[in-house]
Amino acid sequence: MKLESFVSGQWHTGSGEGTPLVNPVTGEKIAEATSSGVDMSAAMEYARSEGSSALGSLSFEQRGALLKDISSILIANRQNYDEIARENCGNTKLDAAIDIDGAISVLRYYARIGASLKDQKLLCESGEDQLSKEPVFFGRHYWTSRPGIAVQINAFNFPAWGMWEKIAVATLAGVPSLAKPATSTAVLANRMMRDVVEAGVIPAGVLNLVCGRGEGLLDAVGSMDSIAFTGSADTGQMIRAHKNILQSGVRVNIEADSLNATLVGPDVAPGTMLFDLAVRETVKALSIKAGQLCTNIRRVFVPRAILGEFADAVAAGIDKLVVGDPVDEQVRVGPLVNKQQQQQALIGIAELSAEAKMLRGGSERLDSNLHETGAFVAPTLLLCEDPAGSRVVHELEVFGPCVTAMPYDNFDGGLALAARGGGSLAVSLFSDAAAVHGQGINYLGPWHGRLMIVDEDAGKNHSGHSIVMPQCTHGGPGRAGGGEELGGLRGLRLHMQRTALQGSSKVHGVLSANAAEVTL
Ligand code: NAP
Repeated sequence: MKLESFVSGQWHTGSGEGTPLVNPVTGEKIAEATSSGVDMSAAMEYARSEGSSALGSLSFEQRGALLKDISSILIANRQNYDEIARENCGNTKLDAAIDIDGAISVLRYYARIGASLKDQKLLCESGEDQLSKEPVFFGRHYWTSRPGIAVQINAFNFPAWGMWEKIAVATLAGVPSLAKPATSTAVLANRMMRDVVEAGVIPAGVLNLVCGRGEGLLDAVGSMDSIAFTGSADTGQMIRAHKNILQSGVRVNIEADSLNATLVGPDVAPGTMLFDLAVRETVKALSIKAGQLCTNIRRVFVPRAILGEFADAVAAGIDKLVVGDPVDEQVRVGPLVNKQQQQQALIGIAELSAEAKMLRGGSERLDSNLHETGAFVAPTLLLCEDPAGSRVVHELEVFGPCVTAMPYDNFDGGLALAARGGGSLAVSLFSDAAAVHGQGINYLGPWHGRLMIVDEDAGKNHSGHSIVMPQCTHGGPGRAGGGEELGGLRGLRLHMQRTALQGSSKVHGVLSANAAEVTL
């Protein structure tokens, strides 16, 4: 099967031999993808003219209804997706649900936001400022849809959620999307898009898909377009530095890799609920999607006095995890998405091992079949006794089931160690002490896009360290790329232009009559 691209209103088969896509359990080729021969400039022009005008004629409420339609089509075809996610991504049922049902729920969430904005097409911010001595001239900010395309380049680990969360936000903002899934796991994105296109409910030009490497895509973007990129820091930097991106002033949002941390508070003792929850979250980081989540916990900082008990509890959790072919329902840890990822993860674990002791994992715990034919990596727990004097544990992201536990001697020191990730997507803190929460909120804020504090009141009701909620922004400073996605209405800012309107009350009355008032 050769995956086709959907551009200029039709399915297009790329020319020449494509990149092989494999089943990561068996190594067997299941599809190939190439975008060679796709005329990217024509595809962009078509989306700009057809898609922009179609969405521009719709209110927020109507765009929300389109998102609801998409989610209904995906729900109707839901039974086909688990199998694809298993075959192409090595997903267990739970892994697939996080990706597929996560995609459906983010579409539904933005559909509801659309409904709440009613029949308007503009947004205006609450509050105005008087700009003249007499109260006759005022300033207020409003937002309009940009007449360009949202180019969405995604990583391999979330072929469903990654594509639809970006499409949901852009569509509601009135901007057509051109999605480019990562080649190695593009089967699911391709199938979902085909289901939606074939249902015939989405106006021409609104949804576009490029399967394959996307040659020429970056050269085809123009000043009103945007690029939302999720992937490695290296590719993110290449995109930022691309000549056409620099010259055209395209908006770029980068979601890159990250050394996310969890802190066990100084008030948390073994045997308590918070200790157990922190252990559970760490074990989840070593099993769900085989650790291939961008927000996954990579480093855990624990008070030195209880580090041994914490590590023992995590190791006991690892020992219960079944690694293997997700076709077996007992399996909790599937393979990484391909041999190349396995190789990179094992090299990374070896590098971390120079600074940390291996308590569980590495490649030796897997039977040779899993290791040789499949892209498996055993859940790996490392212990680094000297985090302050170490470097690699704070800088190298092993994109697989690998966590390093480390001690801190006082909480200030623990906070400083968390910041050594250089800017991360997510950090979590398990503590019931208000003073600890206060320190965490102050110190961790600038270094992280999201801080999850689990205290006794929230307990097990928390949404999970790694789970991205559409209500909250997703992205992080520094090394994590400096981008922001989602966050309810905040996500629309990438696709809309904020303009300061200066004028009389009469002028502002016209704006108010034509815009939904929001707080952004
Ligand atoms: P990657 O190698 O950087 O690839 C990301 C995407 O960029 C892929 O779709 C890739 O296409 C595309 N790409 C590469 N060169 C391109 C070019 N010249 N023009 C257009 N597209 C181009 O990253 P990955 O290996 O897929 O993902 C793993 C990394 O992503 C990890 O480091 C992880 O931390 C990070 N990640 C971050 C987030 C987040 O939200 N911050 C989420 C998930 C993953 P091809 O596949 O065709 O090469």
